[in-house]
Amino acid sequence: MILQVTDSGLYCPAGGFYVDPWRPVDRAVITHAHADHACSGSRAYLTSRPGEAILRSRLAEADAGGATGEPAIQALDYGQTIGLSGVRLSLHPAGHILGSAQVRIESGGAVWVVSGDYKLEPDPTCAPFEPVACHTFLTESTFGLPIFRWPPEAEVFAGIEAWWAANRQSGKASLLFAYSLGKAQRVLAGINPAAGPIYTHGAVENFCRLYRQAGIPLAPTTHAAAAPAGTDWRDALVLAPPSANGTPWMRRFGPLSAGFVSGWMRIRGARRRRSLDRGFVLSDHADWPGLLSAVRASRASRVWVTHGYRAPMVEWLKQQGLDAQAVETRYEGEQDETGADPTPGAEP
Ligand SMILES: [Zn+2]
Ligand SMILES: [Zn+2]
Repeated sequence: MILQVTDSGLYCPAGGFYVDPWRPVDRAVITHAHADHACSGSRAYLTSRPGEAILRSRLAEADAGGATGEPAIQALDYGQTIGLSGVRLSLHPAGHILGSAQVRIESGGAVWVVSGDYKLEPDPTCAPFEPVACHTFLTESTFGLPIFRWPPEAEVFAGIEAWWAANRQSGKASLLFAYSLGKAQRVLAGINPAAGPIYTHGAVENFCRLYRQAGIPLAPTTHAAAAPAGTDWRDALVLAPPSANGTPWMRRFGPLSAGFVSGWMRIRGARRRRSLDRGFVLSDHADWPGLLSAVRASRASRVWVTHGYRAPMVEWLKQQGLDAQAVETRYEGEQDETGADPTPGAEP
C-alpha cells in the first residue's frame, strides 16, 4: 500500500509525507487551499505553483497570532516530477479551484493518484482536470448520487443575470451567497460585468485579489465595506460567503433578494431551509456522471472513496467490477451544506 489512513491523515510511509493531513505534520502535500484540505501548523508544505499564493494566505490567516512563523512552502509546476525518498511525485490539474491538484505517487512500479476535490466542467478560473492513469485512484464523492447532474453553465449564468435584472426592476439589491474561495471567482469570471456594479464581502474580496494577481480575469468588484455612505444598492449584485447569511452585515443593503450558488441547490428544500429567495446550481465538485467518468479515465482497478455519499458510489463501482472501498477522512466536501465558511471575515 503506497498510502495508509492514519490519525493525522493519508500517509505515504515510503516517501515520508502526508497528503492533505488534518493535523500538523512534518511534510504535507496539499491538493488545494480549502480549509478541510489545508491544515495549518505543518513544518513543510508542497503544493502546485498556481496554488502557492492562496495557500500562503490561507495559512497566514489561520496562524494570525504568528505562533508557528512563516511556513516553508515548496511549489511544483503541474507535471513536474520530484523524488521523495525513492518515491516519485507529481501534481496534475484537478479543475476544482485555482491551483487545485491531483497528486500522482509512484513507488515500486505501483501508481496511486489522490484527486483531492475535482470537477470536469469547464472553468475559466483554473486549469482543466487532467485524467492521470493509475492503479489506485482516490476519489471524492461529495455529490456521489445519481440525482446530482449539473445544468450547462451558460444556463446558470443566464438565470443569475435574469434574477439580478428583475431585482433591479423592483428596487432590491441582489445578494448572492457563494463559497468565498473558488465559487465566487467562478461567478465573477462568468457574469456580464456590464449589467451593473458588483460589490463583495471582505472574505470574497481577499481571494479575488489573489486570483487577479495570478492573471485570472474577473469582473471588477468593490469591497462593500469601502462603499461610501448613501450608496444606492438597488442595482447592485453583492457576493458574500454563506456564513454572512442572517448576520447584521446584511442590513446595510436595505430591501434585498437573497440567492445561493451551490451544488446543494439541486436538492428540493435546500433553498427553503436557508430562507433564500433563489438557488442556482453551480458546483466546484464533479456531479454523478463526472465522478464516474473520472474514475473510468483513471483506468484504476482499485478505488478509494472519500467525502459525502460514499456508500452508493462504492456500491456502483463494485458493480462495475472494481475493487472499491469507502475511506474515512475528515474532508467535508462543499461546506455550503452547513452554511459554514472558514473565512467569514469580521466585517464592520
Ligand atoms: Zn475543495
Ligand atoms: Zn474537499
